[in-house]
Amino acid sequence: MQIQNLRKSFGNLEVLKDINFEVNKGEVICIIGPSGSGKSTLLRCLNLLEEPDEGNILFNVSEKDEAVTEEWDLTSPDTDLNKLRTKIGMVFQSFNLFDNKNVIDNCTLGQLKVLDRSKEEAEDLAKDLLDQVGMSDFLYAPVSSLSGGQKQRVAISRALAMQPDIMLFDEPTSALDPEMVGDVLNVMRKLANSGMTMVVVTHEMEFAREVADRVVFMDDGYILEQGNPENIFTKPNHKRTQEFLRRVL
Ligand code: ADP
Ligand code: MG
Repeated sequence: MQIQNLRKSFGNLEVLKDINFEVNKGEVICIIGPSGSGKSTLLRCLNLLEEPDEGNILFNVSEKDEAVTEEWDLTSPDTDLNKLRTKIGMVFQSFNLFDNKNVIDNCTLGQLKVLDRSKEEAEDLAKDLLDQVGMSDFLYAPVSSLSGGQKQRVAISRALAMQPDIMLFDEPTSALDPEMVGDVLNVMRKLANSGMTMVVVTHEMEFAREVADRVVFMDDGYILEQGNPENIFTKPNHKRTQEFLRRVL
């Protein structure tokens, strides 16, 4: 995915100011930076939950036959939002699950409605994914009865059930009790190791350092610097990055 000259304002507030970066297949990118710097807005622009004002987002969409890819410009008005959202999975800080439905229904709904899969096919995949995140004992539990860490693992399974090309995570552990954070990070670590392309907004610096191929530092609507984790964490170029890291490390 290539993000070129992306800009986004809310009224008079310019939140993204000429953002340029790329996400290569299989790469794990962690976006760090102070609160209000535009991280969530950037992520939301990547799957068009927010409409960018300017710029291009080029994305190679895989077809069923994985060898074939089609290049989409997501900012084009022809973009099919439903199809796009099957290709780009998103995990939110606040889970965004259907609380009144059970675990497996949360993980099959999109497959049935958007991908037209059979109930059996959808359930088989959901069960498999829920098993991988340690949630097979909760298939028929209402989501409202789960802990935050369990909800987030269900949310990850739900996104993966669409078999996306890329997964976006917006502070997936920020709303969790501390003892739940590790389980969710482990699931994400496994996913990264499996080769999934991931863009993760996070305050978990240890995770970023260990798992990211590239760390992007955002400040006040700009990408101030990006590079491999070792460089960003031990010898950042910008004073703002140094100050931020001093506060959070
Ligand atoms: P971060 O995720 O880095 O904390 P955000 O992208 O959430 O930053 O927000 C960046 C700025 O944009 C903040 O000043 C925030 O208040 C503002 N903002 C975000 N979403 C909206 C919106 N829908 N309407 C108006 N202002 C918004
Ligand atoms: Mg945010």
